[in-house]
Amino acid sequence: MTPPIDVVVIGGGPAGLTAGLYTSRARLTTVILAGPTPGGQISYTYRVENYPGLHEPTTGPELVERLVTHATEFGAELDRREATAVDFTKRPYSIHVKDDVIEAETVIVATGSRNRMLGLESEARLLGRGVFVCATCDAALYEGLRVVVVGGGDSALQEALDLTRFASEVVIVHRRSQFSACSCLRARALENPRISLLMDTVVEEILGDKVVEAVRLRDNTTGEAEVLKTDGVLIAVGWEPNSELFRGQLELDPDGYLVADGVKTSRPGVFVAGDLNDTRYRQLVTASASGCMAALEAEWFLTRSG
Ligand code: NAP
Repeated sequence: MTPPIDVVVIGGGPAGLTAGLYTSRARLTTVILAGPTPGGQISYTYRVENYPGLHEPTTGPELVERLVTHATEFGAELDRREATAVDFTKRPYSIHVKDDVIEAETVIVATGSRNRMLGLESEARLLGRGVFVCATCDAALYEGLRVVVVGGGDSALQEALDLTRFASEVVIVHRRSQFSACSCLRARALENPRISLLMDTVVEEILGDKVVEAVRLRDNTTGEAEVLKTDGVLIAVGWEPNSELFRGQLELDPDGYLVADGVKTSRPGVFVAGDLNDTRYRQLVTASASGCMAALEAEWFLTRSG
């Protein structure tokens, strides 16, 4: 009978790939269940400029390719299937991939979170071509340009403020007459001469063939439509953790994020890395760092449990 794998990593973004790199380098048998397209959210970033040491801008997909090569060269097995169910009630833990079952001594869950999106066909088509989700990642691409930010919470206003360091004009489009963002962010946004507001307004369509050229807006109160030219559209309408797989198996908070003590989840030997329990930083470097921490905890756990 095949012995259990030392470490199964569920998730193939920077957190999971870093975890796999560390555990395989530590000579632990490692399987990374990465799904058909490894990389997670960073794959949607055109230029990665803020990863320490990568001083020459790299595209998100290029970085993912390097992370995959790095982890697999140390011996991690990259499995491009997706976990379909888990059983963390007894060790070795079971990870189901349709009809297959992988047994694991320890598990690192790193399935990340996804940006809530508007759900428009044009939004999906132009993602990474003017539609983007992270000012910290992409703001520098919009130097001297106009960007529409969609949303009315803390993220939308924070991202709009961050964008004004580069963009010449930021138009916040919100579907209500009031923002839900905190008063300090509201005040800063209202004071900023580069920011203008379109309240009670929805984005009906993002226009552009190869790149974003404009948005079609509709005023909720008058019903009138208008087309606004823009170079970019930042979607900031909230986040959703990819935690459905773990419901009933690991402790989740009311928003679905994993509850953890550092990288330790409610089950011994199951660790978390990346955005699945990060509602605050959500950076490439913080995801990778937590992947490293989860890997070290898994290694120490295996050493202790013999
Ligand atoms: P959020 O608080 O859930 O706000 C989402 C915003 O998007 C709301 O204005 C919502 O409008 C709008 N929205 C949702 N779905 C939409 C849709 N389909 N079309 C158009 N608009 C839509 O999310 P968030 O702003 O990302 O914040 C998430 C958490 O991170 C919060 O706890 C926040 O405090 C925290 N955060 C804090 C900071 C900071 O302290 N600087 C910065 C960023 C985030 P409705 O009100 O109409 O639903």
